[in-house]
Amino acid sequence: MIITLEPDAPADAIDAVVRMAERYPGVSARKYEFRGATAVITEVHLVGSTRTVPTEPFEGLVSVRSVARVSVKYRLIGRHQAGGRIPGFEYNGVRFDEQQVHLFAGLCAVDTREHVDQTMAALAAAGLTTTRMGVYKPRTSPYDFQGLGADCLPWVFESAGKHGIKVIAMEVTDRSHVDEIRSALDDAGRPTGVMLQIGTRNTQNFELLKQVGQQREFPVLFKRGMGITLDESLNACEYVASEGNPNIVFCLRGVKTHLGEPHRNLVDFAHVPVVRRLTRLPVCIDPSHSVGRMENAPDGLPDIFHAIGQGVIAGASMLLVDFHPRPEAALCDGPQALTLGELPRLMAYVARVREAYLSVSAT
Ligand code: PEP
Ligand code: MN
Repeated sequence: MIITLEPDAPADAIDAVVRMAERYPGVSARKYEFRGATAVITEVHLVGSTRTVPTEPFEGLVSVRSVARVSVKYRLIGRHQAGGRIPGFEYNGVRFDEQQVHLFAGLCAVDTREHVDQTMAALAAAGLTTTRMGVYKPRTSPYDFQGLGADCLPWVFESAGKHGIKVIAMEVTDRSHVDEIRSALDDAGRPTGVMLQIGTRNTQNFELLKQVGQQREFPVLFKRGMGITLDESLNACEYVASEGNPNIVFCLRGVKTHLGEPHRNLVDFAHVPVVRRLTRLPVCIDPSHSVGRMENAPDGLPDIFHAIGQGVIAGASMLLVDFHPRPEAALCDGPQALTLGELPRLMAYVARVREAYLSVSAT
């Protein structure tokens, strides 16, 4: 059972709900706070034997907005009610909800200082404050470039600060990476922020999921598992939330099957509305790892643009897109990278598609 309080409910009203819950044997109460753009919403979740607990005593309490019986499924990440606005979250001055679309354009893998600086400068010139920079790269072959690791963090963060970048999506594959990121940010004087990316290969690395869930400093960009069901991916995501971190973005990135050929993965952006209906998480799409190649359709638009269009028209609110100043020189995923010169065209395209989406959607 989930008891939702009115926005900015006072502490004594929250305590009253918890005390009421404690009257029922076998039931425990957990408090969760969601920081929206203008208010803090508190929910009290009753867990245990709640089947016989009546809703009325809670509904009668001061500052209680609603009481809902929910299935245990997606207890924390679930939307639980049709329609309505999701609270979203704010991180380092950037809001993540369904009201805007953020473009995280950047390097699949950080290689040189010069490429990082050129990329950040192009983003700043385009008015963007969000990027992706892979530093810890899980690769299929142990002989492939594994990423520069912690050594490059000082100059990546310095460049981000110089160009006003506020959030960098960065994959982590081990708890030590989170510690390295935290201490490099501290040493650099916190010039930017990091969103911890859980890659598709770690979707069911439950220990890692728990670890990124146990901290609330960094939000989490969770990428769906490429070879498991959507339900399994959503449950994996629930692990992060259940450990205490509700600031999660769910990213669709295609699923693995030869039926997607000639694309790298089968594009799954028809799942954007499904994830929005089932969860309260902002939804991201990654067209680069879905399509995996740069090729133009007869209309002159790359397949990657078309995939982005599919995601945006379906209501995605974040886009993770590989760019590189010189794709031919990239050490990882060069064939799917857009050049920096294509950034303005992509932004204009996204703005038009988003406009079309807003003109046909109810919210
Ligand atoms: C990435 O975004 O760099 C990446 C490796 O993605 P995925 O985990 O979706 O393959
Ligand atoms: Mn990649």
